[in-house]
Amino acid sequence: MKYSLNSLPLSNSFASLPGDFYTRVQPTPFELPASLIHFNTRAAGLLDLDPGVLHDPRFVEIFSGKQLLPGGDPLAMLYAGHQFGHYVPQLGDGRAIILAEATNGRSEKWELQLKGGGQTPYSRNADGRAVLRSTIREYLCSEAMHGLGIPTTHALCLVGSDDEVYREQIESGAILTRLAPSHVRFGSFEVFFYRNQQQPIRMLADYVIEHHYPELAGKPDRYLLMLQIIIERTARLIAQWQSVGFAHGVMNTDNMSILGLTLDYGPYGFMEAYDPGFVCNHSDHHGRYAFDQQPQIGLFNVSCLAQALLPIIDIEDAKAALETYQDIYTSYYHQFMAEKLGFEKADARVLELLAELLAQMQQSRADYTLLFRALGDIQRDSSARRQPISDMFIDRERFDHWIKNYRLHLRASSRNDTQRREAMMNVNPKYILRNYMAQLAIEKAGRDKDYSEIDRLMTVLSAPFDEHPGMSHYAEPPPDWAGNIQVSCSS
Ligand code: AMP
Ligand code: MG
Repeated sequence: MKYSLNSLPLSNSFASLPGDFYTRVQPTPFELPASLIHFNTRAAGLLDLDPGVLHDPRFVEIFSGKQLLPGGDPLAMLYAGHQFGHYVPQLGDGRAIILAEATNGRSEKWELQLKGGGQTPYSRNADGRAVLRSTIREYLCSEAMHGLGIPTTHALCLVGSDDEVYREQIESGAILTRLAPSHVRFGSFEVFFYRNQQQPIRMLADYVIEHHYPELAGKPDRYLLMLQIIIERTARLIAQWQSVGFAHGVMNTDNMSILGLTLDYGPYGFMEAYDPGFVCNHSDHHGRYAFDQQPQIGLFNVSCLAQALLPIIDIEDAKAALETYQDIYTSYYHQFMAEKLGFEKADARVLELLAELLAQMQQSRADYTLLFRALGDIQRDSSARRQPISDMFIDRERFDHWIKNYRLHLRASSRNDTQRREAMMNVNPKYILRNYMAQLAIEKAGRDKDYSEIDRLMTVLSAPFDEHPGMSHYAEPPPDWAGNIQVSCSS
């Protein structure tokens, strides 16, 4: 069964909560005509939405905020959050508007949210808009994360117009439609904790449990169990980010999903040359959100959530739950990295091999994605000393020595070369969203209204482990000019 715009079953469960949690608000359409930039057929499948809706003249009107979804009940959510370590008492959806919640044929619910749909009571002094550049970056990256098997929000479509939006320079406006089962953030709880309001914390927790963790309903310790699941999902999510070299860039608690999804793509970056201290956000002068800080920041963030839940859970229980974070994170991280090296389990020898490899990669600034992908071609019984990938290292003797040890341990494993190669090709992507790739797609879109590059990138990024003959230029090292791209919070 495929739905049309008329038959898509809509509700908005969040709107059934009292008004303390949100404000009902209508989107503000662009002044100039809007047109479709891209439609994500795969994401439409999450809603069981017929891809033919694209040709319905109302489609662009609805997803540019000009017409309401029939039966929708639009709202902007209230939240607060710790930004760069400091509590900011009132944030909220300043430019995001939830149009409705759609139920697909499997009874799964998805919130449809416009990002860039105009001002809301939470806009503070900002314009409620998003620019083409930042929406293309979110559009591509949410697909890339999904392709990598990492929990994320999804992007259904992107519409643009020639409306001018003022940032560091004049840019054109765009609206991204985002899908997630819920957009509730850690900061959605924090706002009531700091206002000393216990009742809304309990109501929101009950809402989250009823809709997203129904297996906990009715259990006496359900709030603690909810915290424990969120800790587990957050730790796992960050271990996945680390394993693919993803830096989020703005891990404020208002950007942390209570479902453990990657949420709010801003100045993110995939690491190219391996550097644990990689900072993707040029506005992050102290490197608070550097790549290697993310696991610790994850702990800080879940601690903020735990604190906000103190009115409804015991403090000692909360502390005990937080103490599990580090071990959960480490065991996922070790497991994912062992798999990247082609081993089934992370034993002590695997961890030694990993530490030495990462140290050499850092010394040589080896490309994180290309290196792990190439490791899959190593043959365990070969006596060839030099491998083509030795060229990625400055100290080749040191790397030759590593390969020797690697082979020794591979020989002790039960997988043969073919089995191991296949397993590695399924965890080490061939394609990653490099900044310069997004940049080229943004330039073509902005200058020529040519969206073909977005389309090609969507194809490779949605299946990044596949070979994609004819697309291999996307799997090459970045060009020299790519090093100069600067990404900041302005979006
Ligand atoms: P972010 O850093 O994108 O997660 O945004 C932090 C806060 O600023 C959120 O509450 C956003 O809704 C708000 N915000 C960011 N950009 C805008 C904008 N152009 N207009 C209104 N609010 C915005
Ligand atoms: Mg945000």
